[in-house]
Amino acid sequence: MANALETYEIYAVKYAQRDAFRAQHFIFSDAHDVPMPMDYFVWAIVGKKASYVVDTGFDAKEAAKRKREHVRTPAAALRMVGIDAEKAEHVILTHMHYDHCGNLDQFPKAKLYLQEREMGFATGRYMREQVIRHSFSIDYVTDIVRALYDDRVEFVSGVREIAPGITVHHVGGHTDGLQVIRVWTKRGWVVLASDATHFYDNIFRTNPFPIVFNVGHMLEGYRTIHALADSPQHVVAGHDPLVLARFPAASKETQGIAARVDLAPLHWE
Ligand SMILES: [Zn+2]
Repeated sequence: MANALETYEIYAVKYAQRDAFRAQHFIFSDAHDVPMPMDYFVWAIVGKKASYVVDTGFDAKEAAKRKREHVRTPAAALRMVGIDAEKAEHVILTHMHYDHCGNLDQFPKAKLYLQEREMGFATGRYMREQVIRHSFSIDYVTDIVRALYDDRVEFVSGVREIAPGITVHHVGGHTDGLQVIRVWTKRGWVVLASDATHFYDNIFRTNPFPIVFNVGHMLEGYRTIHALADSPQHVVAGHDPLVLARFPAASKETQGIAARVDLAPLHWE
């Protein structure tokens, strides 16, 4: 049955980075406090009939505020793989943290696919807690509310097919309404995990990332990813520089910037 589905190309494109240490990325530290930088990505799912942007990143202003290195705008990053943000019709937002949902003015035509629960989370009682709202940008949250009033938000509750071969799945954990995306490719089912697993070591060593709303749901999310992806090599982590190291570059020009994650990794160690 799956064979009848259209296959998609999938691009992971880096737009920012930050220096960090290994101990910052795991609840259970293994005490090797070695450098472990973090990459910031947007993704593009490209089919014959339509393209789907996954997440819209943050802008230079937010980068300066949070001391992140903004290498290029997400729109410029997407342009490098042939996506015109101005014309994008479909944007899937994995969640509403600042590094995933900014720059909406650069995607003026797009419908936004978002878990209903995430909007409730980002505008509800837990935002009274500084430690939880810290990862949100009030401007970006407000922009999504504006998009809602402009008929541009498509709410998902749980699982939904966005197009044949593309489904979104609520997992929660990191934020209450986080969703992952499963995409049909020539090599089978690939899962864009976004922040359901920031790094490969979070899921494969079962060691959760410390920015977490519900640890139990984050651990369940790892199980969901395992169930949805055809193999560990079909999982695309949300912030891991290994994505660019493991998967083939989209082109010679985009080496170290954009990877084709619909293709098999070149190596996996
Ligand atoms: Zn993130």
